[in-house]
Amino acid sequence: MDSTKKLPVAVIGAGPIGLAAAAHLLERGLEPVIFEAGPTAGAAIEQWRHIRLFSPWRFNLDAAAVRLLEASGWETPRLTALPYGGELIEKYLTPLAALPAITSRLQTGARVVAVTRAGMDKTHVRDRDTTPFTVRVHHGGGEVRDHAVAAVIDASGTWSTRNPLGTSGLPAIGENASADRISSPLPDVTGRDRAAFAGRRILVVGAGHSAANTLINLTDLAKDAPGTRILWAIRGASAEKVYGGGDADGLPARGQLGSRLRRLVNAGAIELHTGYNIAALNTLDTQVSVEAVDGRSLEADIIIPCTGFRPELEILRELRLNLDPAVEAPLELGPLIDPEFHSCGTVPPHGAKLLAHPEKDFYIVGMKSYGRAPTFLLATGYEQVRSVAAALAGDQAAADTVHLELPETGVCSTDGGSSCDVPSPGKAASEDTGCCAAPEPVLIGFPTGLSHGRTGGL
Ligand SMILES: Cc1cc2nc3c(=O)[nH]c(=O)nc-3n(C[C@H](O)[C@H](O)[C@H](O)COP(=O)(O)OP(=O)(O)OC[C@H]3O[C@@H](n4cnc5c(N)ncnc54)[C@H](O)[C@@H]3O)c2cc1C
Repeated sequence: MDSTKKLPVAVIGAGPIGLAAAAHLLERGLEPVIFEAGPTAGAAIEQWRHIRLFSPWRFNLDAAAVRLLEASGWETPRLTALPYGGELIEKYLTPLAALPAITSRLQTGARVVAVTRAGMDKTHVRDRDTTPFTVRVHHGGGEVRDHAVAAVIDASGTWSTRNPLGTSGLPAIGENASADRISSPLPDVTGRDRAAFAGRRILVVGAGHSAANTLINLTDLAKDAPGTRILWAIRGASAEKVYGGGDADGLPARGQLGSRLRRLVNAGAIELHTGYNIAALNTLDTQVSVEAVDGRSLEADIIIPCTGFRPELEILRELRLNLDPAVEAPLELGPLIDPEFHSCGTVPPHGAKLLAHPEKDFYIVGMKSYGRAPTFLLATGYEQVRSVAAALAGDQAAADTVHLELPETGVCSTDGGSSCDVPSPGKAASEDTGCCAAPEPVLIGFPTGLSHGRTGGL
């Protein structure tokens, strides 16, 4: 960053990882400018504020952010408690974003639509590494501005780009045209979004824990909303993996939840359709018809897509990236987080070196750094941005010394299963060092995504 030292470092996204990046940059004497597309910090988490996290507070806080907060008299939450998404916002992200050091550098309603090098497209190599970046931002009111920055940290998450409903990774034919019949991925069906689901015929698509969580919540809704019908479509031939090990499950609460789901399906409260590969969606008068590849068809008032997420890469089109061909994570990170082999606690700590791209001083961090792998943890992201800030400040030794203190049991708890707390293949749950016993088992609060990234592959 030598020749562009006076310019700020752009941080894309004011989620937990973007804000932590800003805190680390400040500690390093660098100047962050944070662009957040939503109206407030934590805008993506706001969408799932009703979901309980599966890791306790002590793993959800960034050290540099805490140092900033403590200087302002902030009250530390109880470190062993499992917060809801809403609490993570109210007790941590909002106070952090409100600190003068952060708020003065945070632009909300500011959506980054492209990142490039000033005056050169991707094909130009001369002086590339020493040329500032241009970050193009759509600000509120239709204003578009180009910002010159020395480096870019993309912490924009994956929440806004869910996987499509269609088979083969493509949207089903007619999926886009049926958008008004498709809800957000984790609606609050018994609370904020109740009216959209009560008394309706609802199709949940996906075989992961978001699906399981949503299905159980829908059955709660159905108890006092007559006429609510719940359909569940999965690609696999059976839902056994979602049910987990039942009473024999190494994670008791997960077993309980899986057993509960199984009972609800067996009792007919949930109508399960297996081997259902979606080919097309046809919008009817008040419903949508969902056609399977094998000719079957289901009709629903509304579809809940629990199909996982993928990174939005179009804004980075003019940058020289090196991405894993399968996972779409930075190349060297890809194999380390391959969902076939790693549960969240077993992913080794990593930092700037592993996250680097051919595009110097550009990093993808946080949830987006995991590409399509669903096993990202906040604790991992906090170590990523500590290392990236050190690298940008020229402290290579600190950047390379990565450490992440996860206990033997991992940070995942037994909230009934999560994309992270499924044991690695071939191991009993109790043997898996990645995810084990929880301090406080809870019965709701699956995170999201599909177990080990297999989109509907059960
Ligand atoms: C339901 C759920 C539960 C989870 N539970 C846990 C848990 O218990 N423990 C754990 O460690 N992890 C958990 N995770 C995983 C992960 O830690 C969270 O997804 C976390 O929010 C990721 O933080 P982030 O800052 O990388 O991304 P996000 O929180 O998604 O933040 C990204 C921000 O970038 C903004 N943005 C997006 N695009 C743009 C753009 N183009 N320009 C400007 N701003 C943009 C968004 O509005 C958003 O505010 C969970 C995830 C989900 C979905």
